[in-house]
Amino acid sequence: MIPDEKNRITLACRALLIQEENRNVLLETGIGAFFNPVLRDRYGVDEQDHILLNSLKEQGLSHTDIDYVILSHLHFDHAGGLLAKWEEGVEPRLLFPNARYLVSQAAWERAAHPHARDRASFIPHLNELLMKSQRLILVKKEKQDLLGEHYRFMFSDGHTPGLMHTIFKNNQDTIIFASDLIPGLPWVHLPISMGYDRFPETLIDEKKKLLEFAIQQDAHVFYTHDPHVSMSKIRQDEKGKFIPV
Ligand SMILES: [Zn+2]
Repeated sequence: MIPDEKNRITLACRALLIQEENRNVLLETGIGAFFNPVLRDRYGVDEQDHILLNSLKEQGLSHTDIDYVILSHLHFDHAGGLLAKWEEGVEPRLLFPNARYLVSQAAWERAAHPHARDRASFIPHLNELLMKSQRLILVKKEKQDLLGEHYRFMFSDGHTPGLMHTIFKNNQDTIIFASDLIPGLPWVHLPISMGYDRFPETLIDEKKKLLEFAIQQDAHVFYTHDPHVSMSKIRQDEKGKFIPV
């Protein structure tokens, strides 16, 4: 990846839609279009539109058709798409009026009480809006009865406390939602971590565990931020280095 003159690299903000017989489950919402023009420029957000809404439309869906939105954490590039597009003088409002929103208890608390170092990564008033919706579910354990047997959760703390990884498994496939523990292919290599990671050494230990689990399950690892690749399987070479395949 080659950085631009402001030392920024190209990243995607990718969500995953799981369509089951009678429900639509959305894993994250991307960055959306909630930023005002000043912030949009600062973070170099290329898209003016709420791209996720366009992508849902291509599938014949609207945000009102989503039954569950599962959020790995509440950083703006993962949860910003919960909000309608920014408009001058209009208060932020939540999309997905028929969905339950799932967030881990620890990620919720971090968003409510951020550290000075990561405060800018959270969206002001988002917790309040989610709480007011009365459709918020705070997840504390691996299994959530509502979601059924195909879903379970793993948690990590290295990127941010309470990062929640959805593991979806049916008869054919297993998908692990790596979120910011492994945001894209370059981060599969163990020692590589992001400047945003709060606890890099913890992250590397957790990443190793997740990659070993992915190999053992022959799972697809889903990457939210890789600009080119949405999923890969993992193998280890003879020296033990993890490689996306
Ligand atoms: Zn993050």
